[in-house]
Amino acid sequence: MLRLYPGRVVTDLVQIRRLGEKKREENLRFRRHIKSHNFVERQFRRVAEQVQEQIDCRRCGECCRVTEVQIAGRDVDRLARFLRISTKTFLEQYTARDEEDTLVLRRSERGCVFLYGNECSVYEARPGNCERFPHLLRGAGSIQSRMWRFVDRATYCPIVYNWMEAVKELTKFRL
Ligand code: SF4
Ligand code: SF4
Repeated sequence: MLRLYPGRVVTDLVQIRRLGEKKREENLRFRRHIKSHNFVERQFRRVAEQVQEQIDCRRCGECCRVTEVQIAGRDVDRLARFLRISTKTFLEQYTARDEEDTLVLRRSERGCVFLYGNECSVYEARPGNCERFPHLLRGAGSIQSRMWRFVDRATYCPIVYNWMEAVKELTKFRL
């Protein structure tokens, strides 16, 4: 069983960016490695749980700075209720449309409109996509089928970066 010691976990965001980009090609090969073998998903989930236990998202917030958040109707209702405004006002003030005309949270130069420092100001009512991010433990289909998303996420999310490194070791991935 793989052991993740706290000292091995990288959380510095500058380092994550540098290492994640440097390993992009390697991580694409790793994705093919995962897809071409019959690994048991449970072991990947166990590693993800271990990594998540060691990383405090409240001290990071990088996904809120980097990514665009798609929202659903129920997110709009919940957030409008939380902010005590009408859904119409919420839509006008806090949402935008992306290139594919999908509803997303509005962004400013510091990232998501609701991000203050590293903290989410609507945490209790945050959209489902934020709750599930980085979609290692929660997402549609198996972890193996979601691998295509993780190569990019490993360039900014400490959870994904450290998880991928640990799983490489676990699966004896040869570079
Ligand atoms: S709603 Fe909160 S958790 Fe979601 S991206 Fe914005 S700041 Fe981050
Ligand atoms: S999900 Fe990843 S990028 Fe987002 S706050 Fe947590 S560790 Fe940081």
